Amino acid sequence: MSTPTPIKRIVIVGGGTAGWMTAAALAKATHGSESSIQLIESESIGTVGVGEASIPGLMTFNKMLGIDENQFLAETKGTFKLGIDFVGWGGEGERYFHPFGTYGRGIDNIDFHHWWLQMYNQGKAPDIESYSLAAAAAYSGRFTRMHPMPDAPFESLLYAFQFDAGRYAQFLRKFSERLGVERIEGVIEDCQQHVDSGNINSVRLTSGQKVHGDLFIDCSGFRALLMRQTLSIEFTDWSHWLPCNRAVTVACQRTGPAEPYTRSTARAAGWQWRIPLQHRNGNGYVYCSDFISEDEATTKLLENLDGAAESSPRCLKFTTGHLDTFWEKNCIAIGLSAGFLEPLESTSIHLIQSAIQKLIALFPSEELEEDKRRIFNQRTTLEYQRIRDFLILHYQANRRPEKFWQELANMKAPPHLASKLHTYQQTGNIFREDDELFGVPSWLAVLHGQGIRAKSCHPLTVKSDISFIEQRLQEVRSGIQHVVGAMPPHHEYIDRYCKAK
Ligand code: FAD
Repeated sequence: MSTPTPIKRIVIVGGGTAGWMTAAALAKATHGSESSIQLIESESIGTVGVGEASIPGLMTFNKMLGIDENQFLAETKGTFKLGIDFVGWGGEGERYFHPFGTYGRGIDNIDFHHWWLQMYNQGKAPDIESYSLAAAAAYSGRFTRMHPMPDAPFESLLYAFQFDAGRYAQFLRKFSERLGVERIEGVIEDCQQHVDSGNINSVRLTSGQKVHGDLFIDCSGFRALLMRQTLSIEFTDWSHWLPCNRAVTVACQRTGPAEPYTRSTARAAGWQWRIPLQHRNGNGYVYCSDFISEDEATTKLLENLDGAAESSPRCLKFTTGHLDTFWEKNCIAIGLSAGFLEPLESTSIHLIQSAIQKLIALFPSEELEEDKRRIFNQRTTLEYQRIRDFLILHYQANRRPEKFWQELANMKAPPHLASKLHTYQQTGNIFREDDELFGVPSWLAVLHGQGIRAKSCHPLTVKSDISFIEQRLQEVRSGIQHVVGAMPPHHEYIDRYCKAK
């Protein structure tokens, strides 16, 4: 058996979150090999400048790099995130929480939620939220890192982070440069391709400098400089399912302690996020320009801030969807260049991380094997489709009166989502498919939160003695109250372990 020779010269185009996450991970993975990494970015073009909320997988990414979590939070002025508070999404005056982690713990090999459904459908149990440790801690403003609790009737706290994305990119830049990544400042003017293969040979900067490579990673953001502008890859547009196409964003002052969760509030033509960091709140109104003007959206956003705005609002335009091919010839798209799904469930940074993991797993050799490209493209497409369906679910079952919301409520769901909804309504079953990102508790949180009800539940939860189930459910609730009561306030925990300097 011969070991293939890995690709040697890697060129990353773009130094936003995607570029520097890729640089850091590849620098670590290729350390000690003959591969070199160069990253080109332009201060004059800048980065998208948003992307502050994450999901728990980022913890694994930081651990893989060997980054100390407290240092990461101090440097990025970050806070802990236990989930998302959805306000007004079902209808005006309603709210629900999509927590990280599980509800209770399965009993006799049957998912916890079936036991809960059995009692809920008889009017003998409150909403599922009462069985989530993360939801209880979040709404109490409390947080602590916990060890696993194998004997408790619920699992320990799972968390993610809310942080300043610009500072994270800077943090990863220092990390990458220490491992030998070379940063090149400049604006790329054009690309040169091999006449026969069509592979990218080099990119040329406005200074005249040419940067040659064997593998190019397109992290150039919405421009998709290499994939769309050079390799002419088409874009699959999902605007008919997820029509929001603008966001107006602004940071504001904090007025109270930072909450350990992100808030998403439904508005007439979209929704508004609030992401508490240590030093400020990040805010944005994601909307569809067919239903509201930029001026109106900006006014609404500014009217609904916790504290004074810290800068002028910025408007960003986007189209929901993804490239038809993510890895073409010797070029791979990572980050906004690959596609965009609105930030409703904070999935973009996860998609960056997942693309990096796949790239490392399928790392090309000098032969650039076709099979690796095919697997990368198939898996990434599925990943986007499953997240898309989960996002659509939030809009599908709304009872809001505005035209934007009514149109979304009447939209025909993609077949996979329609079948998932049907299965849940008929049987209470939820299955995780194709390695999809969101698992059973996440689907349940949004299905139930949006007012979708299961008529039935697992047949083996029907016991002659229901006191057994009542007791187990009660143990979960009282156990959660007890554990949360012992946690310190979130802000005190931050001050103690990871306060920004
Ligand atoms: P960018 O940040 O745009 O970086 C592009 C880079 O390419 C820059 O360095 C630029 O200088 C460089 N470049 C471009 N053209 C050239 C050129 N010609 N020459 C040289 N350099 C060039 N994600 C989350 O996970 N959570 C969130 O809460 C979240 N919220 C979001 C809210 C909004 C409104 C939007 C639009 C996105 C949000 N995202 C979120 C997504 C997140 O912001 C991005 O995934 C992340 O910032 C990565 O962006 P990027 O690095 O791909 O692109």
